[in-house]
Amino acid sequence: MSESGQFEGFGGRHVPEPLEEPLEQLATAFEEIVPTERFQRRFHHLLGHYGGRPTPVYHAETLSERYGAEIYFKHEDLLHGGAHKLNNTLGQGLLAEEAGKERLIAETGAGQHGTATAMVGAMLDLPTKIYMGEKDIERQEMNVFRMRLLGAEVEPVTRGDEGLAEAVDAALEDFAANMDDTHYLVGSAVGPDPFPRMVREFQSVIGREAREQIRELHGELPDACVACVGGGSNAIGLFHAFKNDDVMFYGAEPGGRGDAEHSAPLSKSETDDPQVFQGMKTRIIDDDTDNHSVSAGLDYPAVGPEHAALQELGRAEYHGIGDEEALAAFKELSRAEGIIPALEPAHAVALAKKLAAEDRHDTLLVNLCGRGDKDMQTAARKFDLD
Ligand SMILES: *Cc1c(COP(=O)(O)O)cnc(C)c1O
Repeated sequence: MSESGQFEGFGGRHVPEPLEEPLEQLATAFEEIVPTERFQRRFHHLLGHYGGRPTPVYHAETLSERYGAEIYFKHEDLLHGGAHKLNNTLGQGLLAEEAGKERLIAETGAGQHGTATAMVGAMLDLPTKIYMGEKDIERQEMNVFRMRLLGAEVEPVTRGDEGLAEAVDAALEDFAANMDDTHYLVGSAVGPDPFPRMVREFQSVIGREAREQIRELHGELPDACVACVGGGSNAIGLFHAFKNDDVMFYGAEPGGRGDAEHSAPLSKSETDDPQVFQGMKTRIIDDDTDNHSVSAGLDYPAVGPEHAALQELGRAEYHGIGDEEALAAFKELSRAEGIIPALEPAHAVALAKKLAAEDRHDTLLVNLCGRGDKDMQTAARKFDLD
């Protein structure tokens, strides 16, 4: 396996034998096809004309005044589909097409990644099957309707806890059985090599744009970048362009409600030993912890291997932000700036507020990675909006 699948000993490709070959083929296709001018031209054309890139950077004046630090938002919620997911699904969809694959499969938890995959499947005319736990299908009806409207087949997974982990297993089995004509479109910077480095590559357009934009707007680079971390794709997509700069990285993990119910392996787990989970070596939540977050997009029990490495190197810090803190930031951003964020980036906003209160940095660039339409039911219940 290539060295580049390792992040300080995290990551790698820990899979059963039948998956070795298709993953090696995918790694080769990624390395050979993605750098070509033809691929890059098509990818960036579609990111612009289909996706709406570049997304702007916005200086949040009210929050800046209130928090006592300059707060800038990368407006990734304005990307087609309402979140950063399309950068990755478009990149992988085009790679699959160029590599001669004829169908896409994906797993989805809350349905956001499934929807972004279904959009690209429709646009590229590739038959698309989305594996989704039965429990999630019941909870996320609207996204199931969206995927079906877009022409994707939603396959219920009824084993085990009927959640995201089981959907991943079902998708991996499909991939092993149909590797010749199928691309498995993984939704975050997680899983076996080459997925973490491939998803980073496609999402790093976020940071490349933001680095230029904040220089223009603010005159210099920010002191720190802040992003929420589920699997870690929007965070690594923002951080990567700043890796050689004197810019600190902060990840907001879903601290849930207390020490027994969270999805925050880097900030709240007690065990220090890395584990092998879904094909990668990384950190996961403790055995006796219930996997939970108020935001469906963050309740993943592990984290992308590069984040585990960045923490170990001291290059990034990860902080748990609880459900209530995230909900408060969700409301504050809506009222102060007229932007309704998704509950996921509300965790990043809450962390930025804390960092500013501690006077750690003067300028913070926060990835506003999704919009809040999908969270209105939760908000209505919480804030008595009816
Ligand atoms: C899916 C999703 C996330 C979590 O995924 P990452 O890979 O950690 O970025 C966060 N925010 C939004 C809006 C999402 O849709």
